Amino acid sequence: MHSASEPGLLSTPAMPRLVPDGVFDAFSWAESDHLAWRSSSAHDLTGPVALDGRNPGGMVFVFRDDAPEAIAHLPRELARLHVPALGLGDAWALAPYAIDDATDELYATRVRPRDALWLATSTIDGLVWGLHDWAHFHNHGPFERRAWTELQCDAAALVWLRLNAARAAVDDATWEWIRAALVALSEHRFAEEGEPFDPTWLAAPRLDAIAARL
Ligand SMILES: [Zn+2]
Repeated sequence: MHSASEPGLLSTPAMPRLVPDGVFDAFSWAESDHLAWRSSSAHDLTGPVALDGRNPGGMVFVFRDDAPEAIAHLPRELARLHVPALGLGDAWALAPYAIDDATDELYATRVRPRDALWLATSTIDGLVWGLHDWAHFHNHGPFERRAWTELQCDAAALVWLRLNAARAAVDDATWEWIRAALVALSEHRFAEEGEPFDPTWLAAPRLDAIAARL
């Protein structure tokens, strides 16, 4: 039986900028602090996970009931169609294809992401990409240097996952598996853009040192 757990707050403190100046035009325009998250009590946050750079199924950002009118025209779909096990009723979610639209609109309207959206997912890949997208929402950029843009959001997802390891029940081995998958993805993105990639940018000791300072 699947029953919805109470929403919890994931700690998502504002990250330092790890990428060159100019990748973002408004880095940390809204200071991230926490992300409300609801999962099924039957959630499975262990691997294996498919991290191929696309948003997975089974993960949506649900609009808060009191989400500001300013972002009301963002594309929306019924949340329960994507995450059926959570008893989401008629709640609306940001359409999964509209992450970039939301990144632009939240910034344009200066609506704090936490005042508009919360995360519904019961899978580890949903949680990883939810955190990655949460970083996008707080850091606006022209997306011209995609590999660098994604690297910042991957680093945020990994640091935040580390900080919430106990709440999300993500053990060290699973975190390391995710980190390695994100390093491989990043390497691929940099190669596509013909830029050198240094795997130490996402090295575990570096990410842990950042997590310890937040
Ligand atoms: Zn991204």
